[in-house]
Amino acid sequence: MKPIRKSRNKSRDDNRRIPSLTPSPGTLGEGGGEGLRLSPLLAFAAHPDDIEFACGGIITLESRAGRAVHFAICSQGESASHGTPAVRRREATSAAKILGATAEFVKLDGDAHLELRTTHAIALARIIRRIKPAIVLAPTTVQNQHPDHWRLGTLVRDAARLARYGGVPELKSLPSHSISQLLFYASTCEAEPKDATPLLVDVSDPTIMDIWKRCMEVHKTQTSARKYVDLQFARARARGLGAGVEYAIALFSTDPLLFNDLSAISRGARGF
Ligand SMILES: [Zn+2]
Repeated sequence: MKPIRKSRNKSRDDNRRIPSLTPSPGTLGEGGGEGLRLSPLLAFAAHPDDIEFACGGIITLESRAGRAVHFAICSQGESASHGTPAVRRREATSAAKILGATAEFVKLDGDAHLELRTTHAIALARIIRRIKPAIVLAPTTVQNQHPDHWRLGTLVRDAARLARYGGVPELKSLPSHSISQLLFYASTCEAEPKDATPLLVDVSDPTIMDIWKRCMEVHKTQTSARKYVDLQFARARARGLGAGVEYAIALFSTDPLLFNDLSAISRGARGF
């Protein structure tokens, strides 16, 4: 599917440079300023393709803006109908490279066997302390989806808190770390929380769309079985058109968002 070039529209173009996921200095997280702007983005995935399909366009935007991006992939897709763990690992590694991200594989309970355990939350908190991200992405905790997705989202939410606590004995080898934002992504419509206002990121730029498409197509074992690329582009198209742009990807926050002033959110997603 070829991305449609955005039409010129002055009032929209005036605000075209929407903020990336970079928090405004002085409002979010520790320190503020340039150090915070360059803080890494850490994205957790239950399976090797989750991040790319759900929000690869956003990852592209962030890495292109100069932010270091790291993926923590918590299985090798070993329970999937298509693709061996070795092939899935290779696909995920190639996709991360296309996105300008680094990736590691984390051993928890394995694909389709993930359980909610405190030891897992601590293991994920250790990754947060090591990477020191400002922003963390995780799958939504909506339960009407793959059971690994909502369980991982729940574990990451807990991990983000444990990463901050100075007294957790298992984590004492690394300094505590407070993230700025935990944002959730949805791999499917069914995984989108109905009670949260989505945070839409404009990915209409054809370059961004091309990279997003490429990083999804690398997962050949999955895209040959189902039209996942079309599916994700259709979702982004519907989100975008509803907001007056060509393509947009939704993220979700379960917490209030803090802005320096209203100009940071002057770009509305609804035509009044
Ligand atoms: Zn998945």
